[in-house]
Amino acid sequence: MKPIQMVDLKQQYLNIKPEIDNAILNVLDSSVFIGGKQVTDFATNLSNYLGIKHTIPCANGTDALQIAMMALDLQPGDEVITPSFTYIATTEVIALLKLKPVFVEVDKKTFCIDPAAIKSAVTSKTKAIVPVHLYGHTANMEEIMEIAVEHNLAVIEDNAQAIGGDYIFKNGSKKKSGTIGHIGTTSFFPSKNLGCYGDGGAIFTNDDALAEKLKMIANHGQKAKYYHEIVGCNSRLDAMQAAVLNVKFTLLDKYIAARQKAAAYYDKAFSNHAKITTPYRADHSTHVYHQYTLILEDANNSDSYRNALHNFLAENNIPSMIYYPVPSHRQKMFEAFGGADYNLPVTDWLTDRVISLPIHTEMDEDQQEYIVNKVLDFVNK
Ligand SMILES: *Cc1c(COP(=O)(O)O)cnc(C)c1O
Repeated sequence: MKPIQMVDLKQQYLNIKPEIDNAILNVLDSSVFIGGKQVTDFATNLSNYLGIKHTIPCANGTDALQIAMMALDLQPGDEVITPSFTYIATTEVIALLKLKPVFVEVDKKTFCIDPAAIKSAVTSKTKAIVPVHLYGHTANMEEIMEIAVEHNLAVIEDNAQAIGGDYIFKNGSKKKSGTIGHIGTTSFFPSKNLGCYGDGGAIFTNDDALAEKLKMIANHGQKAKYYHEIVGCNSRLDAMQAAVLNVKFTLLDKYIAARQKAAAYYDKAFSNHAKITTPYRADHSTHVYHQYTLILEDANNSDSYRNALHNFLAENNIPSMIYYPVPSHRQKMFEAFGGADYNLPVTDWLTDRVISLPIHTEMDEDQQEYIVNKVLDFVNK
C-alpha cells in the first residue's frame, strides 16, 4: 500500500507530468512570466467553465477576499456578517480593512452559514455577507440572496473550497458555486480542488463595473499604466501558475468525480454508525469534497474522544486533520472585536467533534479500506 497522505500532490503530478512539464517549459521559453496569454487564457477558460462574465486572477485566495471587499467601498466600522466556523482568511481580511466582523452560527448539518442567524444579526450598519462554502458544500445561497436583497447587502462567496460545485435552485436550475453572489472568490493553493504549484487566486463577478474596479484594485488602482485612480494593491497570478492551471482546469470535473467516489466509499462504510455522522448533502448543493469531515460523538460528547481518534490514526500512519481547532470568534486576533462575547454553541459543538479524513484525487481502495478499518476499530472499541 502507498503511504497515506491527506492530499497526494506528487502522484497527481506524476499522472500528468508530460503536460505540466511542457506547459512550464513553454513559459520558460516565452519568458513572459507576469501577465500574458497563459493568464488571460486561464481567466477566459475559468469564466466559460463557471458560466460567469468576468474572472480576475490574483495572487491568492486571501487577496481575492480582500480585493472583493475593497471594491465595495465599505467604511471603517461597517459590519460584515460571516461564519466563525471557517478558515481564518475569511474573517481576517474583514478586520484588516478596519471593518467589523460579525460572527454568526453555521448550520449543524452542512457546516455552512445559517441564514436564520444572518437574519438576526443584520443591523443598520450591516453592509455585506460573506458565506463560505465549507469543505466543498455550498451555503444556502437562495435564502442568503433573499436577505441581501431585502436589506441591500453585498454578498461575497468564499468559494475557496467548493470550486466546480453546483448550486441547485428550488426551481431546479443550476449555477456554479461562487457565481451567485455579487462577487465570488477562490484560491488555487496546491491542496485546493483546483490547485496550482504555488500561490494563486481569482475573483468572479457578472457585474461589469465591479469587474473593472476589481481589476484596478488588483493592479495598484490603475487602468492605464502609471495613472493611479484609486488605492489598490499588487496581486497577480503569475504565468507559470496560470500554465499549470490551464492544464489542471481541464481535469477539474474528473478530479471532483474521484473525490466523490472516495467519499461514497467512506459514506457506505460509516453509514448508520451511532458515533459517526458522515457529511450531509443538502438538496441545494452538490458536494465536491474538498474535505471529508466526520462528526464524532461518544457518550461524553467531548473533544477528547475526537482527539483520541486523531492520535490513534496517527499511530497507524493515517493522517487526519481538525479543520479548524479554534473558531474565529475564539482566536486571540479577535479579542479586540469582542470575540469572546459571542455565544455560538453550534460552532463550539462542531469544533470539538469534527475530524477530516484523507481525501484526494489519487486514492486507492486498499488505502481507504485500511483507513475505514482503523476508524471502525477505534469507534467499536
Ligand atoms: C484556502 C482558503 C482561503 C485562502 O486562500 P489562500 O490562497 O491560502 O490565501 C480562504 N478561505 C477559505 C475558506 C480557504 O479554504
